[in-house]
Amino acid sequence: MNTLYGTAAVSARGHGMTSQRARDRLVATLRDEGIKDPRVLDVIRTMPRHLFLDEALSARAYENNALPIGLGQTISQPWVVARMTELLIEQGTPKRVLEIGTGSGYQAAVLAQLVDTVYTIERIEELLRKARRLFRNMKIGNIRSRHDDGNIGWPGEAPFDAIVLTAAGESMPRALQDQLAEGGVMVAPLGPAGSQRLMRFRREGDVLHKEELEPVSFVPLLGGLV
Ligand code: SAH
Repeated sequence: MNTLYGTAAVSARGHGMTSQRARDRLVATLRDEGIKDPRVLDVIRTMPRHLFLDEALSARAYENNALPIGLGQTISQPWVVARMTELLIEQGTPKRVLEIGTGSGYQAAVLAQLVDTVYTIERIEELLRKARRLFRNMKIGNIRSRHDDGNIGWPGEAPFDAIVLTAAGESMPRALQDQLAEGGVMVAPLGPAGSQRLMRFRREGDVLHKEELEPVSFVPLLGGLV
């Protein structure tokens, strides 16, 4: 596990122990709300989420809420990050994971503690630049990122053992289905705004087995680059 960012990064803004206590409380909340995987809870306990937010919002970083990160986007709610991560690693830890929607970089940073390599795609260049700077400062070396439309995936690096969408589409983009390895798992919020659900797919030959899970609320999966 990569913990190099630990103390230095946490104290960088003077939060010190407050942040650790706040993270412990957040982990207790997530456990109360059904997150079971100790590996996931451990990562949330050590990951400085306040670094992924503008300073004005960092005091709210350990509430179990989505928060704005600018450009109309949000950092996902911790419960959602924990749940999606748990669903991705439940049936065996994937080695190479593709994430669509880097946003703040928090979900990618969480995944990077648990799998070999995270490939993440973001369509808004300004968000991607910020996230990359954070990964560098935190010395997280196993995230590769790309400014592109996630609907087309990352053909040059496919197949992936797992794929996660952190923006909601109406259906799973075809290109992503094709880039999932045999036995691979895909987790995504699907459906129109107001009635999205978390879905998990598992590939078996040409068949994608589908599980319909919790109702969720995500920003939309859009096309084109900004
Ligand atoms: N994983 C992020 C969540 C960010 S919100 C985090 O932990 O903070 C979802 C992100 O998906 C937004 O940044 C949005 O710009 C991005 N997005 C939406 N449609 C996309 C697409 N087609 N390709 C790549 N990124 C997309």
